[in-house]
Amino acid sequence: MSFFTIIVAIIIAEYLISQVLEQLNSKNRNQELPKELQGIYEDEKYRKSQEYGKTNSRFSAVSSLFQLVVVLLMLFLGGFAYIDNIATQLFENKILATLAFFAILYFISEIINIPFSIYSTFVIEEKFGFNKMNVKTFVADTVKSWILTIILGGIIMSIIVWFYYQTTDLFWLYTWAFISVFTIFMTMFYSNLIVPLFNKQTPLEEGELRQAINDFATKVGFKLDNIYVIDGSKRSSKANAYFTGLGHKKRIVLYDTLINDLSINEIVAVLAHEIGHYKHKHTTLGMILSILQTGLMFYILSLFISNPELSTALGADKPTFELALVAFMILFSPISTLLSLFMNIISRKNEYQADGYAAKYGLAAELISALKKLTVNSLSNLTPHAAYVFVYYSHPILYQRIMAIYSITNGELQNTKGGAIRD
Ligand SMILES: [Zn+2]
Repeated sequence: MSFFTIIVAIIIAEYLISQVLEQLNSKNRNQELPKELQGIYEDEKYRKSQEYGKTNSRFSAVSSLFQLVVVLLMLFLGGFAYIDNIATQLFENKILATLAFFAILYFISEIINIPFSIYSTFVIEEKFGFNKMNVKTFVADTVKSWILTIILGGIIMSIIVWFYYQTTDLFWLYTWAFISVFTIFMTMFYSNLIVPLFNKQTPLEEGELRQAINDFATKVGFKLDNIYVIDGSKRSSKANAYFTGLGHKKRIVLYDTLINDLSINEIVAVLAHEIGHYKHKHTTLGMILSILQTGLMFYILSLFISNPELSTALGADKPTFELALVAFMILFSPISTLLSLFMNIISRKNEYQADGYAAKYGLAAELISALKKLTVNSLSNLTPHAAYVFVYYSHPILYQRIMAIYSITNGELQNTKGGAIRD
């Protein structure tokens, strides 16, 4: 079987699998709710959440079919080789030609994606009351992300190509070392370098909330100097909180929307969950796993990259690094899907542990009520299909999280449900 056949087969198989999962998920939408979940949505709002799920799944069906058609056309009509011809004619220098190739590819995909992105933001999110973005923010975000991609992508790609031409055999090892250092650097400085381009972060002001958070951090022996509030409300009414950085650069970031939606005790519970991630070393573990994955990918890449058949599979007369890289990325995608399944399994396990941490400090009821509010406010699906969850979800579903928290508290909470869970 030729590489071309395998590439086309992979792309079609991935599309079909994703459509089957969407179908299964849709069928589950009208399932009856377990008693633990009844009443967390008002009836009207629950219908709205089902409608939101349906709208998004129709939208994703259209956009993924469109993408499939574009990629197949590119493959059958030799589009990748055509773009590569333009790039190699523009630049004699091999590094510049590779950069030009990926730049053209990137802008074509951006032009194709922007209408979908506009529809998703200004039609779907708008209709369901989530969108807070105006056209100006949307345009600014798009242009900023282009500039960022050109600068970062350009630097990374030039260094990878340079390593390839300098050190053919050990290319994967040098590239791996470089990407690992870059990953660690970005983890440390993400909040200082990238976030300010898109959002305003302000230290959480003194007051009742700050005091409650400090008290909890002191109680559990967590040194917390950096608590920031981010203006997520500039784009969406959905709420979130996250932990970022390493060592003394670590910080907890709360969305302003989270502060508006939750009570002080609920926010402390969410924070306890985030501290739980840190105490269980999930951030470090996640980084190590992603570095190992990168190493595996570059090693396998080094076995294939010099094979001229990768380029000819995309319609080239003369093999080039960039075409081989594109062909490789498609051939590698089943492996990367398996790796992401594995990462999701670990991530869901970590979420239970972080919930357990908050529960251990007596915040189980507050955490459950926070999770319920966050679920309702983002119109989340209460009954996704198990297969869909297994493949795509990095967090367990609400029901599973509630049941896991109940089991930690030995049912104490369940019995006092009426009083304890409502805030
Ligand atoms: Zn978490």
